[in-house]
Amino acid sequence: MPATTGRHVVIIGSGAVGTVSAIECLRAGHRVTVVDPGQPGGEQASSYGNAGWLSSHSVIPPAEPGMWKKVPSFLLDPLGPLSIRWAYLPKVLPWLIRFLLAARTSAQIEHTAQAMRTLLVDAPKLHASLAAEAGVPQLIERRGVLHVYPDRTAFEGDARSWAIRRKVGVEWLELSAEELRQREPNLHPRYTFGLVVEEAGHCRDPGNYIAALSKLACERGATYVTTRATGFRLEGSRLTAVTTEQGEIACDCAVVAAGARSKTLAASLGDALPLESERGYHVMIPDAKVGPRTPMMASDAKMIANFMNGGLRAAGQVEFAGLAAVPNWKRAEILRNHLISMFPGLAGTVPADRLRVWLGHRPSMPDGRPCIGPARKTSDVIYAFGHGHVSLVGSARTGRLVAQLVSCSAPEIPLAPFDPRRFL
Ligand SMILES: Cc1cc2nc3c(=O)[nH]c(=O)nc-3n(C[C@H](O)[C@H](O)[C@H](O)COP(=O)(O)OP(=O)(O)OC[C@H]3O[C@@H](n4cnc5c(N)ncnc54)[C@H](O)[C@@H]3O)c2cc1C
Repeated sequence: MPATTGRHVVIIGSGAVGTVSAIECLRAGHRVTVVDPGQPGGEQASSYGNAGWLSSHSVIPPAEPGMWKKVPSFLLDPLGPLSIRWAYLPKVLPWLIRFLLAARTSAQIEHTAQAMRTLLVDAPKLHASLAAEAGVPQLIERRGVLHVYPDRTAFEGDARSWAIRRKVGVEWLELSAEELRQREPNLHPRYTFGLVVEEAGHCRDPGNYIAALSKLACERGATYVTTRATGFRLEGSRLTAVTTEQGEIACDCAVVAAGARSKTLAASLGDALPLESERGYHVMIPDAKVGPRTPMMASDAKMIANFMNGGLRAAGQVEFAGLAAVPNWKRAEILRNHLISMFPGLAGTVPADRLRVWLGHRPSMPDGRPCIGPARKTSDVIYAFGHGHVSLVGSARTGRLVAQLVSCSAPEIPLAPFDPRRFL
């Protein structure tokens, strides 16, 4: 079938996924309107405050076999790296059960890893190319990322995940205690084992990167409307408009890329998709002098530490409490304490009034795979959400896939693993 061009596409959400989708739809010859109540790259979006990792090896879903045994500790330790607020338990329980069931076996995890690899494999290169187009090539660095462990035994505790990564084509270099010391002189010596994944990259300022991509989309003809989308107007199975708080926008195609807030929009079309917010936090030290030379994930703290343009950022934590609950800033304090414990040279230089903190919502599906595909009622509405821990890195290929779906052309990777209907 020849590709369709010239459709008017309304993209709901201007986070990483919506913004890259806008650029790719314009490239494919469509007219684009982007709708968001917030600014592109603004603090309301999860894309603003993430750790900036462009980790093409982040293919393993967050759940693992036997994780159900840890659920009591998720409830009893409100400040642990993964926690569930008691009051939210009845709401999140059905999602949680699916989350645990989706990673019962290694075979299930491998299936997800194979699919995620197709989505992420060359993401650092794709982002470097987008950043160059937008005139901000310096925001994307491709010099690898580092995973640090207290010792080899701790690494072996993660052996299943790394074995699956190897199976799907991820390679890495192992670092001894001495090599780690030479590479990362500021890191606490309790870390004696490291892994470098050289293919990965990172973004030095996700908020400004998205803002620059949005500017590029505008220059190429996209219209931005500052409002909230509320639903869709259909005539039979054809889309005729997106409804918003400021009235209707006539269109013949729409993309739902509203991150963790996409659920109600899909529900308005009768698609009850299990999307949940995995809340996460960051803490920034604007003028830190000490820290990692390579973007670094600490296995014990389950936290990423990165130098960004605005300073040293530590990001992590998973909290299930819904979209509306107030932030628990003690979690940001925990990240700060982990940072100081990883880089003792920071101690005494980080009084609370110099720290910047942020809470964001990772849009997560229970099986660790996003939804990329049409709504059941109409192929004019495309879902592109649920990337969980990997939307920034995954947005590059997702945007291309969205444009291919909008154009009714063949998708460049198999979409079955991401088909929203797997949940329906
Ligand atoms: C602490 C933390 C660390 C992370 N680290 C990384 C990392 O290192 N690498 C990585 O790849 N990912 C990381 N992530 C995940 C990543 O940030 C998110 O998955 C991603 O940003 C989601 O992108 P998105 O475009 O789907 O949604 P968002 O960025 O959340 O954007 C959604 C947009 O939709 C808008 N919106 C919502 N409702 C409506 C509506 N009704 N109408 C119109 N607009 C609407 C919102 O205002 C928002 O601007 C991290 C997340 C967190 C919280």
